[in-house]
Amino acid sequence: MTKFVAHYSEVALKGNNRPEFVKALRHSVNRVLSGIDHSVAYSEGRLVIDAQAEEAEVGARLSHVFGISWFAPVSIVTPGYEEIKGAVLASARSNDGKTFMVAVRRSDKGFPLGSQETASKLGAEVVQETGKKVDLGEPDLSIHVDIVRGRAFVYTDKTRGPGGLPLGTAGRVMHLFSGGIDSPVAAWLMMKRGTRPVYLHFYLAPSPQAAVESKITRLVQVLSAYEGKSTLVLVPFADYQLATMGVPGELEPSLFRRFMRMTAEALAPRFGAAALSTGDSLSQAASQTLWNLVSFDDGSSIPVLRPLLSYDKEEIISLARRIGTYDLSLEEYKDCCAIITRHPRTRVKAEVVSDYIQRLGLKALVWTSIEKSTIVTYNPAVGVLKATALKDSVPGMETEQTPSA
Ligand code: ATP
Ligand code: MG
Repeated sequence: MTKFVAHYSEVALKGNNRPEFVKALRHSVNRVLSGIDHSVAYSEGRLVIDAQAEEAEVGARLSHVFGISWFAPVSIVTPGYEEIKGAVLASARSNDGKTFMVAVRRSDKGFPLGSQETASKLGAEVVQETGKKVDLGEPDLSIHVDIVRGRAFVYTDKTRGPGGLPLGTAGRVMHLFSGGIDSPVAAWLMMKRGTRPVYLHFYLAPSPQAAVESKITRLVQVLSAYEGKSTLVLVPFADYQLATMGVPGELEPSLFRRFMRMTAEALAPRFGAAALSTGDSLSQAASQTLWNLVSFDDGSSIPVLRPLLSYDKEEIISLARRIGTYDLSLEEYKDCCAIITRHPRTRVKAEVVSDYIQRLGLKALVWTSIEKSTIVTYNPAVGVLKATALKDSVPGMETEQTPSA
């Protein structure tokens, strides 16, 4: 049996929403530990997790839970000096480090000794018992003792969690998902603040099956470690390409991006999504200048969120590495460069794009493309991937609605 203590960000979870957030956090912990016999309890502002599995396995799973700021394997003892001393000495003995420190936090004022006094006494016991030296600067081993009502937590190896807020506490977004580096990271950041993305990808692959088997699905599978059951919608855009053949090259990216937005916007209510999100970073590409982003959003009935707007590419890459999507993002993928033009315009007027939408009948094309879309769900707990025609699986898909241009 492995015991862990997990802390969430105190500041973020203050106030009336706290019980709801803690419930969502417990739900996430239960989800990542599914398949392992375990229990999750709330105790004095932290979660205590008991699991029938190796420490490394439980730790790896907890590192995928948004809302956890840090976690550590823990010994829980009754809050008497002798019991605490026993746990502290056991921790000290099981570590090879030459230097150590003891940090005590006493939130139960019923404990007879002050924090400082307890730390000094325990420190002296460790020196005597193990010969290790005290180092308050950069010790090889930090032993933490948190004394709360009715129990004391003793732990050493604190691991940083992903932080943020528990998944599902901030609603849903339709997330425009490409095979590149940026959009998976943007999805992760949206999840970090509590939203659940519905991934939306536009493909040129020759068949829905080929799209399902592409690296896009594998990227979603990597991200599903953070979300649990994940949903991907694959929209073909071969018809769009045919319909827009005569469009000047310099306008192509803006027109295609507007088409993607209109499709995402049309689908959003069907999935209960309150906003769209993208992996745009300001001025990273000609299609992402401030003017072109404004043109993208023009006339949209719901907001477009861009968590990477102010990120540099290096920052995005370092996050992609940490999340585990980077290598897959680098893998070759034919579709991602389909709408690339040598000299895209950096200031495309929204009216010019709207005009092409009108003239080429692209509003209607949004719906014929949705008709041909595929929905993929992946449940990492059981490793099951399902793909079906979107129109057969989402209620109300047969009724047309006019997206805004
Ligand atoms: P990424 O690494 O995410 O591909 P990028 O720098 O290559 O980003 P673009 O290709 O211009 O940028 O795309 C910007 C954003 O537009 C993406 O982050 C994504 O949100 C959306 N996008 C681009 N291509 C597609 C696509 N085929 N399907 C869905 N969304 C897309
Ligand atoms: Mg891209």
